[in-house]
Amino acid sequence: KQLLKINGLSVNVEDKEILHGINLEIKKGETHVLMGPNGAGKSTLGYALMGNPRYEVTKGDIWFQGKRINEEPADKRAKAGMFLSFQNPLEVPGLPLGTFIRSAVEQRRGARVRLWDFRKELEKAMELLQMDRAYGDRDLNAGFSGGEKKKAEILQLLLLKPSLAILDETDSGLDVDAVRTVSQGVEEYQKGRDGGLLIITHSTRILESLRVDKTHIMVDGRIVKTGDGSLVEQINEHGFEQYLDQAGC
Ligand code: ADP
Ligand code: MG
Ligand code: MG
Repeated sequence: KQLLKINGLSVNVEDKEILHGINLEIKKGETHVLMGPNGAGKSTLGYALMGNPRYEVTKGDIWFQGKRINEEPADKRAKAGMFLSFQNPLEVPGLPLGTFIRSAVEQRRGARVRLWDFRKELEKAMELLQMDRAYGDRDLNAGFSGGEKKKAEILQLLLLKPSLAILDETDSGLDVDAVRTVSQGVEEYQKGRDGGLLIITHSTRILESLRVDKTHIMVDGRIVKTGDGSLVEQINEHGFEQYLDQAGC
């Protein structure tokens, strides 16, 4: 039932320790929320989990689906079912969105995917996300608005069906309608099988219609508080102030 287990994880960026001994456990099908002030290290955790080489694990272990993956490169982690949606998605001129997603799905499944089947599935997900079909043939994120980029990330989530999805501020900079649409996309992913979610967010709007099993507050590279879904509302009302005091900021 265990999906991800992080034990005493410390991470350096450019020789500076950013994360100090993080412990976190996500079971299959669980949705965890990671909140915290800017600069706390939330994105650093996402990159370190995904295996970005700029984020050096100096202590601790990452276990994913029962396997220690500290030394696995990012592409192997992706193939094993880990997905990170970026805070600032890259633009890739010359690579149509649909082609990109199809090849990612094929890599993940290790088999060809029939174009006809893929197109049908893609269009269904695009409809849910209220994306114009034409976006499937447009170059990945090139000239996409902020909202369209975030929707394109959720589109990948829905087609790839990763076993663990880390969503890094997929809701930031979106208007109310786009947040609702993105949230519906995430809800659709939640409904499917036993995928786990780690949602990194500043705001709580994306969570309104989602089931949240656990909430973690990160301050200054440490998880200073873990609670259930109701912790989100508490943060909504009172902010992070009391936790900043705890961390001695
Ligand atoms: P959050 O996502 O919680 O806002 P980050 O993980 O982005 O926080 O950043 C945590 C700290 O690590 C910050 O002090 C930031 O300046 C530093 N940091 C993160 N990534 C890099 C990087 N690629 N190069 C240099 N410093 C970085
Ligand atoms: Mg930030
Ligand atoms: Mg961040």
